[in-house]
Amino acid sequence: MDKFIVKTQSRFEMIDITKEVSSVLNKAGAKEGTCYLFVPHTTAAVTINENADPDVPKDILMELDKAIPLSDNYRHIEGNSAAHIKASLFGSSEVVLVEDGNLVLGTWQSIFFCEFDGPRTRNVMVRFISAV
Ligand code: ZN
Repeated sequence: MDKFIVKTQSRFEMIDITKEVSSVLNKAGAKEGTCYLFVPHTTAAVTINENADPDVPKDILMELDKAIPLSDNYRHIEGNSAAHIKASLFGSSEVVLVEDGNLVLGTWQSIFFCEFDGPRTRNVMVRFISAV
């Protein structure tokens, strides 16, 4: 298993990590198979969506904030329940196919690390399973 660090800069953020994941796969000599991504955090997540237009992740974060407000009489004493809920909605893992050493992603797709309670130093775990 490999891992890399993401240093987030703000409280809410979607960071394109596609290049970092590709770099890990290249260093591992990955050719054909499956790439598993796992974020070992309860207030962060990983998702795949559009990065061709940088307004898409901004819109996603804006609407998430409306659906899951920061304050809403939550019971969790740490005060970051909104971040926990957002993290569960997006999930802590993604699976991406790998072909000829490249991530199989649609033209407009990127892999995003989603920070919901930053800024923090975060980890992304990567496991490549070879198909051959
Ligand atoms: Zn908490």
